[in-house]
Amino acid sequence: MIVEAEYIMEDNDFHEGEFTNFVISCKKNVLKMAKNGGCFIGSAFSCIDVIAYLYNNIFDIKKIKEKQDDRDILILSKGHAVSALYAVLAEAGIISKDRLDNYLTNNDDLYWHPNPNVSGIEFHSGSMGHGLAIGIGMAFASRLKKIDNKIIVIVGDGELNEGSIWESVLIANAYKLKNLIVIIDRNRRQANFETEELIPLDSIKDKFSSFGWITHSCNGHDINDISNSLEQIFTDTTEKPRVLIANSIRGKGIPLIEDNPKYWFGDFEKKELEEFNKILDSQKIFDEEK
Ligand SMILES: [Mg+2]
Repeated sequence: MIVEAEYIMEDNDFHEGEFTNFVISCKKNVLKMAKNGGCFIGSAFSCIDVIAYLYNNIFDIKKIKEKQDDRDILILSKGHAVSALYAVLAEAGIISKDRLDNYLTNNDDLYWHPNPNVSGIEFHSGSMGHGLAIGIGMAFASRLKKIDNKIIVIVGDGELNEGSIWESVLIANAYKLKNLIVIIDRNRRQANFETEELIPLDSIKDKFSSFGWITHSCNGHDINDISNSLEQIFTDTTEKPRVLIANSIRGKGIPLIEDNPKYWFGDFEKKELEEFNKILDSQKIFDEEK
């Protein structure tokens, strides 16, 4: 069977195959939610590897569940990908998996954007360009309180078009917020357009670097690349904010959706979701019974 999150947290040896299956379980959780109506599956599958890695290998789940002051904090600024976050919270044991069935119903608080009424959700996000400023406030507060934690903000690449992002990028550098890590989900899509066709962003690395940030990039679906990049970021003691550009593919894992502008938002039939589930099952590294 798939090893539960808290068991993996206690096991310091990183098992790539187990983690792959953990991500697949998270993706299947997203599909479970998608049966209740439209869902940004593409955006969720674009950043779910990174989110799963953080909760599976970096964060202290006990501290998050107990809302301890020195817990690490994740803000999903691209809030429309919330199904990825709820999926991981459920797989990591922070919320009950049963709640996923209530997505978009009046029986629960799980709706379109991150809802702080849900355990593990730190801030209501989804209005583009706001999450980073919130993260800066939290990072600054941690410094004032002498709390040694990480404040991680996941932003979409299209979200970088918001002016408030660049004000925040200036301020984070001015305050030398080394406990602030921005992860950019660089799927090169904004709604159903290519980012470079709308408002060109390249080179994001050069832009952040010129604003005084430490910059890294990785393949947002390669667990070893994600792991190595974050390791470098966490061990670097430079008094500067950090950014990780996670190059990704929207809808990664489901060929029909992958980088397909037609499915930037998807409201799929039950039969289609069943087919997606089968595709994900075929990607598992080892049999669940092992
Ligand atoms: Mg994008």
